[in-house]
Amino acid sequence: MHKLARKRIAEKRIKRLFKEAEKRARQERLELSNRYVEIARKISMKYLVRIPKEFRMKYCKKCGSYLVPGKNCRIRLQKHKVVITCLNCGEVKRYPYIREIKERRKI
Ligand SMILES: [Zn+2]
Repeated sequence: MHKLARKRIAEKRIKRLFKEAEKRARQERLELSNRYVEIARKISMKYLVRIPKEFRMKYCKKCGSYLVPGKNCRIRLQKHKVVITCLNCGEVKRYPYIREIKERRKI
């Protein structure tokens, strides 16, 4: 199969996995969400495709947990920044606030 076609399929699978992870998180089955994140990250590495921005914010890069605000992560707003702390491993991520607003509009 053509390399680009393979990458496109990989991207689709990543999106599907994150949607599934979100669904499981809502059902309070975070262990499944974490498993889906793990698979999505493996696909991303294998096919060298980036995980879309809106999904990259939803898991911890360090420990791989799917992040649910108020459950296993804390979200704080600082000056022009969104600060996300993973309560599993303590990893802190910062995103510019403007991007966050744009992403919410998309949804
Ligand atoms: Zn973590």
